[in-house]
Parts: sequence; structure tokens; C-alpha cells
Amino acid sequence: MRSDPKHLQAALTAWCRLLGDANVQCDAATLGQLSQDTMRSPAHACARLRPASSDQVAACLAIARQYGIALQPASTGHNWGYGSVATAHNRCVQLDLSRMDKILDFDEALAVVTLEPGVTQAALADYLASRGLPFLTPVTGAGPTCSVLANALERGFGITPVTDHWQAVMGLEAILPDGQHYRSPMWAAGTTPCYKWGVGPYLDGLFGQSGLGVVTKMSIALVRRPQVVQPFYFWVDSGAQLPAALDGVKRILDRCGGQVGGINLMNSTRLLSMAYNDQPLTRLSPDERDAAARSLALPAWMGVGSIYCEHAQLASVKGIIRSELRRFSSRYQFRSQRQLVLAERALRLLPGAWSRRWQLTLGKLRMGVELMHGQPNQVALPLAYAGGARPRPGALLDPARDNCGLIWYAPVLPLRSQQVATFVGQMEQLCLGQQLPCPVTLTTLSGRAIDCTVPLLFDRDDSQASGRAEDCYRQLFASGRQQGVLPYRVPLAFMDLLAEAQGSAWQLGQRLKAALDPQHLLAPGRYCSLPTITECPPAAMEPQL
Ligand SMILES: Cc1cc2nc3c(=O)[nH]c(=O)nc-3n(C[C@H](O)[C@H](O)[C@H](O)COP(=O)(O)OP(=O)(O)OC[C@H]3O[C@@H](n4cnc5c(N)ncnc54)[C@H](O)[C@@H]3O)c2cc1C
Repeated sequence: MRSDPKHLQAALTAWCRLLGDANVQCDAATLGQLSQDTMRSPAHACARLRPASSDQVAACLAIARQYGIALQPASTGHNWGYGSVATAHNRCVQLDLSRMDKILDFDEALAVVTLEPGVTQAALADYLASRGLPFLTPVTGAGPTCSVLANALERGFGITPVTDHWQAVMGLEAILPDGQHYRSPMWAAGTTPCYKWGVGPYLDGLFGQSGLGVVTKMSIALVRRPQVVQPFYFWVDSGAQLPAALDGVKRILDRCGGQVGGINLMNSTRLLSMAYNDQPLTRLSPDERDAAARSLALPAWMGVGSIYCEHAQLASVKGIIRSELRRFSSRYQFRSQRQLVLAERALRLLPGAWSRRWQLTLGKLRMGVELMHGQPNQVALPLAYAGGARPRPGALLDPARDNCGLIWYAPVLPLRSQQVATFVGQMEQLCLGQQLPCPVTLTTLSGRAIDCTVPLLFDRDDSQASGRAEDCYRQLFASGRQQGVLPYRVPLAFMDLLAEAQGSAWQLGQRLKAALDPQHLLAPGRYCSLPTITECPPAAMEPQL
């Protein structure tokens, strides 16, 4: 990869000829958008390309190879809390795939949708709803504007029964850095892929979290809407009861199998971030946070799960869950979407602050239930604003645009109750040491593994707070690593930690990167080590078209 401005200029001219001037952008407004981020990342792209087809993607890559300019793909570019659209160095050009937004096929019999990178959760949900197709969109907390394909590629987690989105990937097409096309082995033209693993080495997996190719098409298995979607909530009164609660959750998953989706357990600080609007969470001292949590009667932990089943199964699944919850929970409830809507309506008739607060809480619970029904919404996004950033009035939420301070630490642990509880205690201590709140969500990935997500929230305008959040991330990473625990996904700014932590698997990854992308043209520095780059000072590299 070259860092000479003349090559960049020549490449931009060639891309303009290919895509048209309007789709090669390096004006000030674009550069401003490319630098939007929820943290301090190594660098940001110096231009944006907007291809509209996989042929154009291949041609963009050919020009990148010719001039030695690195490309950073983005499907919708909302990788908030993981570096958004940041790049490893300031010579990268963003390959923005959001114009490739077609749903190419839906095979109703096999329940497999084939779509392009720019298809958002909202677009897929609209497609299904407008055709009366009874299937769940694989939603996440990141909301309607995020790419279904990119979230699966990043191995994101969701709310609906197939929590792990990569698991639902049946096949894909990609373009390699050398221009070669890849298509999953058992996906013949004109067919729907129905068997994830194909035959021979499992090569689709190479494209997740790797930068080994630009994925231009993906087939994803959807879950048919079940007759019943029944949420349940449970209260855990003290931190000391967390191990018992985790054991209970594990037994529920073991006993109910696929009829219960991922179960979330949120600590009181996480609950506070949803229920408390008086001041930014980051401005409260630990004592003030405790007092606010007490004033709202928040429990130490609260659990949320959902039953997905047939009417005939509901009573027995509920019976199993009830028998487990009784063993550790002081209070639990099964509440349908309809019941929450009715309760919200009834509260609207009552005056006063108490009623308003409960309307707000019930509104959020109802939107949480919408997610369980596969309807994307923005209910989880206000969390990113807990460091004091303000949403743009009248616009959809966008934590990077709105200068929110957020870094996700998302380690995956074995679902061993005592180990998880001890780990959570350590995370709380490390956050406390850096004067950061520690809002934890524990999300079961299976009966074996649990994700312990902590959003490090801070005021992005305060460089000391940014520094404390970065230190905290490094400490959390080091502490986890000592115990053999790693995050499932890492912000670009902290890739160096991953490179140090990995052994033979990482070395194989590097060899594959060297073989398939020797010039490091694609997503340099993401999940693979970066060769030394001679940087130009930003002023000297302003491209001119
Ligand atoms: C409050 C909040 C809640 C969140 N909740 C969740 C959650 O529940 N689950 C979850 O998983 N995430 C969550 N996120 C994190 C993140 O916002 C989402 O994962 C989001 O889907 C990622 O952004 P995107 O879909 O726009 O992907 P992009 O930003 O488009 O892509 C992400 C990365 O994938 C690679 N990539 C993208 N497209 C391609 C391609 N076609 N070919 C090759 N490589 C590609 C690129 O390296 C890119 O940087 C949350 C964030 C916030 C702020």
C-alpha cells in the first residue's frame, strides 16, 4: 500500500470515471461525516466511494490495487461503540456499500432471504410486513438504520430466537482483494442456499471480522413468527443472588431449548440509564447513582426473556420458567405486548410525575417487546447519550453524529455462575477506579456462553474522560485476558491488544491475510496486524478532484 498523495489523486480520478463524480466524495461535509465516531480512533478515511453493484465493487478494487490505495468497507457505517467508520490510517478510502440496498430474493418455503449490504433492519421489516410474510427480522439494539448483512459479518447478537446472527448465514458472495469472486460452495446459481457448511473447508467463515473480502450478497435464514411471543421479567434483589439467578437462567435454557430466546440480565446502573432522565448518568457520583436507583425502586439485577412457542406449548413452558424463577426471584411477571399497551393507556388517565415516569417505563418495556417480535426500533439507543450528548431534534438517533462517548467492552464467558459474578464484580471495580459508571448487560448466547457487555460511557468533549475510558478498556481487556476471557468483537482503536492476546489462530489469520491481501488493501488493521505505514501529515494529503 502506498502513501503518496499523487497515487491517491490518480485513483480518485479513476474512481470518478467509474462511478461518476457524485459517487466519489471528499468534500468537507463528507470528511466531517467520515470522522464521526463515539471514541478516539486511529484515523478516518480521506474520501468515500459509493458503488451501486458488485461489478462496480470489483472495479473499485481493481483501481485500489493499481494505485495501492487501501479501502475500508462499510455497509451502513453504524458500528457505534466499535469505531464507527474509523480506519487504521488516514490514506484509506471508504467503500460505502449503502447504495447496494436490494432484497434480491425471499424463499418463503425455506425461510431464507438474500440481500445486499445496504439493506437495513427497517427495510427488511418493511419488506416482510408489506408482503404479509410471517417472519421475524433479526433485530439488534442498534436499531432500524443498521445493516442486516454487516451485523451478521461482525457476528453481532440480537433479540429474536437466533441470537447469534452469524449462525443464520446460509451463504454469501464476496470479492477478494485480488478481484477473484467467491461464492459459497453449495449455492448453485438460481438456488437458495440451505446448508450453511457447504462441503470442504468452511470458507464463508473467513469473511466474518476479517477484511479478507468485500461481501456483496448474503443469504440469511429467518425465523417464522411463532404463534406466541411471551416476554417475562424477573427481579433479583441483591448482588449476592446473582450466581443463583444465573444458575436458574441456565436451567431455563437447558429445559426449554429453542422455546426461550436469549435472556438478558441488567444491573441497576444499566436500569438507571433507561429509567433516569434528570441528569447524564456519568455526572452522578456512585452514591448519587445508588440513591437514584433506590428512589426508583430498581432491583440489583433485572432479567428479561421471551418465550417463542405455539399456543399449545405455552402453559408448560411457562410452568418450567415459573418453577425456576421461584427458586431465586422475589418477583416475576409474564406480560404480553397487549397488556403493556393497555397499562400504558390506563396510566395516561392519571395525573402527576409518578404516572408520567411509569408511562415512560412502560413505553420502553413495550418497545423492548416490539424488538422481541422482530420489529426494529430505537429503544436501546438513548443509552449512548448517557454521557451528556444531545440527540439532533427531529432526526433519527445517531450516536456518532451526535458526539456520544461510547466504547463497548463485550467479553464472552462460560456460563458458570460464580465465575460470571466474580467477573462482573471485577469490571465494576475497574470502572469505579476510572470514575466511570458500569452498566452491565449479561446476554445468554446459549446454555454454555454468556456475553457480559459494558458500555464505557463518557463525555466525548472531555479529553480526560476519553482518556479514562480508554485506560479502563485496556484494564478490562488485560484483566479478562489473564482469566482467559476475550471480547467477541474489538474496537479498531484496541486491535493491538487482540494481536498480543492471540496465539496460533492469530498467526494463521495473518498468513491468510498475507496470502489473500498482501498489499493490505482491505480494512487494514482490522483483526489482522498492520504493516508499518509512513504517514503523510493530514494537510499534505487533501485530495483535489
Ligand atoms: C446503544 C447501542 C446498542 C447496540 N446494540 C447492539 C446489539 O444489540 N447487537 C449488536 O450486534 N450490535 C449492537 N450495537 C453495535 C453496532 O451499532 C451494531 O453492531 C451495528 O449493526 C454495526 O453497524 P452497521 O450494521 O452499520 O455495520 P457497518 O458499520 O456497515 O460494518 C461494520 C464493519 O463490518 C465490516 N463490513 C461491513 N460491511 C462489509 C462488507 N459488505 N464486506 C466486508 N466487510 C464489511 C467493516 O469492517 C465495517 O467496519 C449497538 C450500538 C449501540 C450504540
